[in-house]
Amino acid sequence: MTRILLVEDEVSIRRFVAHALASEGLQVDEVDTLARAHIEAGTRKPDLAIVDLGLPDGDGAEFIRGLRAWSTMPVLVLSARGSEVQKVAALDAGADDYLVKPFGVAEMLARVRALLRRRVQSGSAEPRLLLSDRVTIDLSQQAVLRDGERVKLTPNEWRLLAVLAANAGRVMTYRALVGEVWGPAHAGQSHYARVCMQHLRAKLERDPAKPEFLLTEVGVGYRLASKESGA
Ligand code: CA
Repeated sequence: MTRILLVEDEVSIRRFVAHALASEGLQVDEVDTLARAHIEAGTRKPDLAIVDLGLPDGDGAEFIRGLRAWSTMPVLVLSARGSEVQKVAALDAGADDYLVKPFGVAEMLARVRALLRRRVQSGSAEPRLLLSDRVTIDLSQQAVLRDGERVKLTPNEWRLLAVLAANAGRVMTYRALVGEVWGPAHAGQSHYARVCMQHLRAKLERDPAKPEFLLTEVGVGYRLASKESGA
């Protein structure tokens, strides 16, 4: 049975989320503090954690950072509207995705399913990734095909795309992307990623202003939506 750890101190939201997850046949362990979250994560070994960032005994990002020292379980963050800084900190601490409150039940369940699927798939990474009807990435050949034709990318464009592809469906912060592509010394230079992304979209997207798979997470970073990841 798939186990979900739900860390949320607001009773109404916790009930609503727990009820929705249980109706999908998921086993839910509910806690309302970081202290309890640490204990439950260690003893119950959940398959996925849903973590509110504003908790009575601290910041959910601290919990995620601690978790990442020993676990790769997917983490979905619940954040208040407008708390971009907190959200980015949680993603940089190792969270996989986030939802801004208030959110709908269908959206929440879709994110949970995508993260659980990703967990099952990781380790058997598909070398070929279908991004749209027209665009395919072949990681083993280091090639991108658009309408069957190989697209010429610069080394940095390829690296940015490859990092996003390796994390398909997951939100990647500017800091994480720039750190991976240009090196940790440049991690604060988010404009490197923005400029490179403009070029990638111009080469791969049908309409660069309305991207189908190279998606912007406003104020946070980018997410690659692939057909397989369902994101
Ligand atoms: Ca809270």
